[in-house]
Amino acid sequence: MDRSSWREECGVVGIWNHPQAAQNTQLGLFAMQHRGQESAGIVSTDGHQLYSHKELGLVLDVFHDFPWGTLPGHSAIGHVRYSTTGQNLLVNAQPLKADVRGRPLALAHNGNLVNSKELRENLQRQGSLFQGTSDTEIFLHLLSKIGGENWVDSLPQALDWVQGAYSLVWLGVDRMVAVRDPMGFRPLVMGRLKNSGYVVASETCALDIMGAEFVREIEPGEIVVFDLSGVRSFKFKKNLKSAFCVFELIYFSRSDSMTFGHSVYESRKKFGAWLAKESPVQADMVIPVPDSGVAAALGFSAQSQIPFEWGITRNNYVGRTFIQPVQGLRDFGVQIKLNPQRQLIQGKKLVVIDDSLVRGTTSKKIIQLLREAGAKEVHMRIASPATVSPCYYGVDTPQKSQLIASRMKVEEIRDFIGADSLAYLSLEGLFQSLGEDPQGYCAACFNEKYPTRVS
Ligand code: AMP
Repeated sequence: MDRSSWREECGVVGIWNHPQAAQNTQLGLFAMQHRGQESAGIVSTDGHQLYSHKELGLVLDVFHDFPWGTLPGHSAIGHVRYSTTGQNLLVNAQPLKADVRGRPLALAHNGNLVNSKELRENLQRQGSLFQGTSDTEIFLHLLSKIGGENWVDSLPQALDWVQGAYSLVWLGVDRMVAVRDPMGFRPLVMGRLKNSGYVVASETCALDIMGAEFVREIEPGEIVVFDLSGVRSFKFKKNLKSAFCVFELIYFSRSDSMTFGHSVYESRKKFGAWLAKESPVQADMVIPVPDSGVAAALGFSAQSQIPFEWGITRNNYVGRTFIQPVQGLRDFGVQIKLNPQRQLIQGKKLVVIDDSLVRGTTSKKIIQLLREAGAKEVHMRIASPATVSPCYYGVDTPQKSQLIASRMKVEEIRDFIGADSLAYLSLEGLFQSLGEDPQGYCAACFNEKYPTRVS
């Protein structure tokens, strides 16, 4: 992927045939706010035309006191996005809306294409005029170029061109279409709404918030069409090895979601328990880095029989550490967000659990805070393997040079973050604890085995 282009982590949702389509879409986006905090948008249809509202900001701010009558109709799609390059432009906010050969279409995308640069250049050479820098626009241009009577029939041909990760929700005036890429990098699930209609969403927590019943995952390589005749589905690509993103289970999905058939919470507890077996340590208490390390810390505590304690309090009104693209601000972010319980940890030996260690900024700062608060020993345990390589499939990881484990050995990282000891969960342990075959997953951020070519 072109590293200078827009990188993103996102959440998508779509509602088909429900009287409060736009409001339910907002609920779904709100439940998935963790998947993207920089912009939010909804496009709805009343069967005649598309209506759109999107802005930079959090879901509840973008739709605060919103005149819902301006997003009418029984169907809607929505999107939350997260970007880190600083290029936070409204033009890249989704859902994207375009007239494709005279038909209004909207699209929400979670994932990242690995051949977007070539595709964009090719399309531009052939006269396509791009409005923004997001790779999502490519889908619309491809569809427009291919043409045809029925855009759904043209979709497989368009999708043949793109490589990488994409969970998509499309909206036309008479149908909604959900698509998951042939390797299924990003999750996409389908549910049934209480009285009428269907929902598709990146995560099951979006179904729960609107009281929808989980039906099934959209399969890798599947297109599901919702229209007046009902719901139909077909495979546009068969029998590709899946590449489910293991980082969804480690960090990205919300812990109350079911992702790739796993309870995210239980998975994280298993990672923590396995980590306790692999890298035990004598300590007085297990404390999580809130909230990302909580489930793994519970697993570590249960396995090691070391008591779990809420040793660090988090201020929930600050965004995620990663939000600030500048290192100085990021350092400050940890301090304003997390505060150790001095009375609890003074003179104690601590095992501190986090889900992942990327640049080392968070751990370094936390350990410093814990030492200042009087901790006697601080043993850092990370409930995933060392992050050594960037993700090209839609999770924001910094460039390789900024990944601390790509340039330092474990002991050097331990010294950098100031821990008494440091251990990561092994890659084998990760999959064994999950009871999964590593072959079906993408773990390229840990083992550099990219399931597709990366340009
Ligand atoms: P770092 O401070 O760079 O080592 O980042 C590690 C912290 O960031 C951990 O607490 C993780 O929970 C969190 N984290 C890991 N990956 C991501 C990501 N892709 N986006 C946002 N936060 C992340």
